[in-house]
Amino acid sequence: MGALFGTNGIRGLANVDLTPEFAAKVGVSVGTFFDGGEMVVGSDARCTSPMLLSAVISGLTSAGCKVYNAGMAPTPTIQYTVKKQGVDGGIVITASHNPPEYNGIKVLAGDGVEISREEEKVVEKIFFEETFRRVKWDQVKEPSILEGVIEDYLASVTKHIEVEAVRERKFKVVVDPANGVGSLTLPRFLHSLGCKVYVINAELDGRFPSRPPEPRPENLGELAKTVKALGADLGVALDGDADRAIFVDETGNIHWGDKTFALIAKFFLMKNPKSTIVTPISSSSIIKDVVDEYGGSLVFTKVGSVDVSHKMKELKAILGGEENGGVFYAPHIPVRDGTMTTGLILNIMAESGKKLSELLSDLPVYFIKKSNVKCPNELKGKVMERVSSEFEGLPKETVDGIKAFFPNGSAVLIRPSGTEPAIRIYAEAKSEDEVNDLVRKYAALLERVIREASAV
Ligand code: MG
Repeated sequence: MGALFGTNGIRGLANVDLTPEFAAKVGVSVGTFFDGGEMVVGSDARCTSPMLLSAVISGLTSAGCKVYNAGMAPTPTIQYTVKKQGVDGGIVITASHNPPEYNGIKVLAGDGVEISREEEKVVEKIFFEETFRRVKWDQVKEPSILEGVIEDYLASVTKHIEVEAVRERKFKVVVDPANGVGSLTLPRFLHSLGCKVYVINAELDGRFPSRPPEPRPENLGELAKTVKALGADLGVALDGDADRAIFVDETGNIHWGDKTFALIAKFFLMKNPKSTIVTPISSSSIIKDVVDEYGGSLVFTKVGSVDVSHKMKELKAILGGEENGGVFYAPHIPVRDGTMTTGLILNIMAESGKKLSELLSDLPVYFIKKSNVKCPNELKGKVMERVSSEFEGLPKETVDGIKAFFPNGSAVLIRPSGTEPAIRIYAEAKSEDEVNDLVRKYAALLERVIREASAV
């Protein structure tokens, strides 16, 4: 049996891998999994999203599902709608931050969180064995259009913000939603908080003409320049489906998501000491240092937002986050949400009375470097076993690969890739020289171990 789901749901080239026939088959498989229940569906603004959404709706209704169509909206907006409507599950058509020729299908449980890895396996089995639930012609239900989805969602986000404190500051904010669905929510949310809002790249366009839809620093030059030129307090860049947010401070500096998440965790722990914070094992030690300093407990998960959401649910944790700008705030919904994240940052700026650059300059500084070493899939297990003996006696985390923490504050994570014949190295240290040494040392070690393992 093949695999349908990757780390981020079902992804592929639109109209090549993800054809309407394929999407309809996923739809009927998911409809079978939910036993013909009630489903909320929606999509991002990619050129191929309406085509795939129609096909998924056909499949779901064929299995007897009642479908509520939320239309075009950010992924977290559709996730929140699933939870609020009290339906059985949902489907989102999106390829998040991938290039425009891609698309994807996310399957949600009744609480709006993506289904678990075990549940994905059940859907896969139905898909490949074609054991579909098909209802009689007079049992096929007509899909309905859902109204007011964005208003309801923004009302939920706003509930978790100190609205008056933020309004008083009259923040000047520049938003760059990458021509994606964040254009539909974030500017409106900021207006409601009394901000002076400027937008760039905010016309919906599935070709992503202005910048790639991944909010990486190298794609955000225009935003940084605009923040500086306008003398704005904050710049916010979203990814293509608006579940991740990367921030630019008032001086035009772009900050990677580990820093802004650490800032949110710090202020959260100051108000809620002893809380549990959830983050993937690949997150930088900035998070660990802040959580240690402010008396929280940190729980590591495998790499992937689904793993963070599920661990938060299991532990009833309130806050989670990833280095890529995904922050999960459970009182709203335990999934990453760029609009909610922006609200939390503005809250901190309002309550502290400090500028973003000042708030972030208080955090510990790490130099981070990543590398890959080629390794045949069949040798990965053996290689990882040998590598683990190198870290004898050091504090370790082994939830996904091996992460070892050295006494001088540096750390290294060695993790087999889930998608490629390679082993990944993530190193971090207090100086650039040190981090380069770490990567060199462990790349050489891995190459030697792989050579020895393949010689046997
Ligand atoms: Mg995304």
